[in-house]
Parts: sequence; C-alpha cells; structure tokens
Amino acid sequence: MIDVIVLGGGIVGASAALVLAQKGQRVALVERDFCGSQSSGVNYGGVRRQGRPLHQLPLSQRAHQLWADLPGLIGIEGEYVRSGHLKLARSPGDFSALQAYADQTRGFGLGLQLLDRSELRKRFPWVGDVALGASLCPDDGHANPRLVSPAFARAAQRHGAAVYEQAEVIRIEHDSRLFQVHCANGLHLQAPWLLNCAGAWAGKVAAQLGEPVPIISAHPAMLVTEPLPGVMTVSTGVEGGGIYARQVARGN
Ligand SMILES: Cc1cc2nc3c(=O)[nH]c(=O)nc-3n(C[C@H](O)[C@H](O)[C@H](O)COP(=O)(O)OP(=O)(O)OC[C@H]3O[C@@H](n4cnc5c(N)ncnc54)[C@H](O)[C@@H]3O)c2cc1C
Repeated sequence: MIDVIVLGGGIVGASAALVLAQKGQRVALVERDFCGSQSSGVNYGGVRRQGRPLHQLPLSQRAHQLWADLPGLIGIEGEYVRSGHLKLARSPGDFSALQAYADQTRGFGLGLQLLDRSELRKRFPWVGDVALGASLCPDDGHANPRLVSPAFARAAQRHGAAVYEQAEVIRIEHDSRLFQVHCANGLHLQAPWLLNCAGAWAGKVAAQLGEPVPIISAHPAMLVTEPLPGVMTVSTGVEGGGIYARQVARGN
C-alpha cells in the first residue's frame, strides 16, 4: 500500500518524497529519467536569499537554516559554500534600489552590507570599473546541483521511499478513491495522493487530469567555462538582472 505517489524526481519531487518519508508516509517516487537529471541538476546552483521578493523571505530563511546542515539532511556536502552573494550596481539608480531593498529587508536578518565604490574595490578588486557600488549578503552562496539533487532522492530512499527511475508516467486515472498511475515500463502504482512534481512537464500531467496549467519552458541560458585561474570569491549578480556568475574551486 502506498500513501503518496510523487511524480518527478527533481529537487521538488525528491525533497517532498524525503520529508513525507521522514514523517512516516509510504512514498513512491517515479522518475522518467534519472533523479536530478533535468533542471534540478543543470542549473546555476545559486543558494541565495538576497534579491528575493519580501513574501518569499520567511521561506528562504527556513531553507537557509536547512542548508546549514546539508550532510545531516541528505548525507553529502554537495559543494555547498557560503561564499557570499554580491549584487553590483551599475548606476546611481541601481544603487538606490539596493539601498531600498536593504531597508525593506532589515527585519529578516539577511545581514546585507552596502559597499560604496572604494569599499567594493578594496574588498573585490576583480570587479570592473562599471560597478559603482554593491550589496553583499555574506552568508548566501552556491552548491553543485548535479550532486545535491540526486542526493535528495537517495536520502528519500534511505528513509523508506520506493524510487523508480526510468519509469515514465504515461497515463493517470482517478477511480474516485485512488490515483492509478501507469508507466511506459509496465509499472502500475496506486495511491490516494499524487504529487505533480514534473517540472516543465507538469502542465501536461495536470492537463491529463483536466486541470491545465499554462507553463512555458525556456532554453538553457547558462554556460560553464574551462577551469580558469581563481578570481571570483563570491557568487555575483547585477541589480536589474542580466547576468550572474560564480567560480568553483576547480576554476570553472
Ligand atoms: C542546488 C540548486 C540550485 C539552484 N539554483 C538556481 C539558480 O541559481 N537559478 C535558477 O534559475 N534556478 C536554480 N535552481 C532551480 C532550477 O533551475 C529548477 O527551477 C528546479 O530545480 C526545478 O525543479 P523541479 O523538480 O520542479 O523540476 P525538474 O528538475 O525538471 O524535475 C522534474 C522531473 O520530472 C520528470 N518527469 C517529467 N515528466 C515525467 C513523467 N511523465 N513521468 C515521470 N517523470 C517525469 C523529469 O524527468 C524531471 O526529472 C536551483 C536548483 C537547485 C537544486
């Protein structure tokens, strides 16, 4: 007997499976490819609070506490580092926006530090002249999503979840009591609860159940360089968006 079927083994599905299993639910996690092989394994890997909208910050703070003990949660370090997150201002307007954000978020404990041009140069001499100031969140950082995301699924498994990989869900029915979930490999599961954690494909899954959700997917906008001499010590973005970058210990 299964209590919950989790459809999709990305960070969303795998972490849901982990927490449900920890709480004693009987969980089946079903993944078409390999857990963490889609968006959850190939993104930038930023783990930050700075810049998030105010309504997300209580949840972000809770996540920040959980990340502090990643080995305790999923059994690996995941190359998680609290390197700091630096947001650059390229105009006085950008700097005012960073100041306003620091004021608005003061009660959330992000510990933001506003750096003027000379302070920025002193602490981060590699930053180009175009930056005239910045905001630093010293305890934000980054991790290796390729390691972290599959580790959530393995942790769920250790807590008793059944993990089915290379099992594409092709048909879902609800018989007024249970969800009946059929996979391309012949696997058939049934449970009173189904979590749709199919990421960019979640709209298709929802449509099968008569609840279409408009989702569009965008193509990768990230690149990884060859290893370069160590330069960047913090995960870095710019106010207003446009580009962000980080450098890992290997130099990429
Ligand atoms: C450590 C970390 C850092 C991150 N940092 C950033 C960042 O800096 N910037 C940023 O923009 N985002 C970041 N992200 C977020 C990331 O880009 C994605 O938005 C997020 O991981 C999506 O998770 P997901 O589980 O919803 O989707 P996915 O990882 O895509 O997982 C969905 C899964 O569902 C499976 N699936 C789909 N259809 C079916 C089916 N029919 N049957 C079975 N399985 C199916 C897919 O194969 C896939 O594995 C980060 C994520 C992590 C883990």
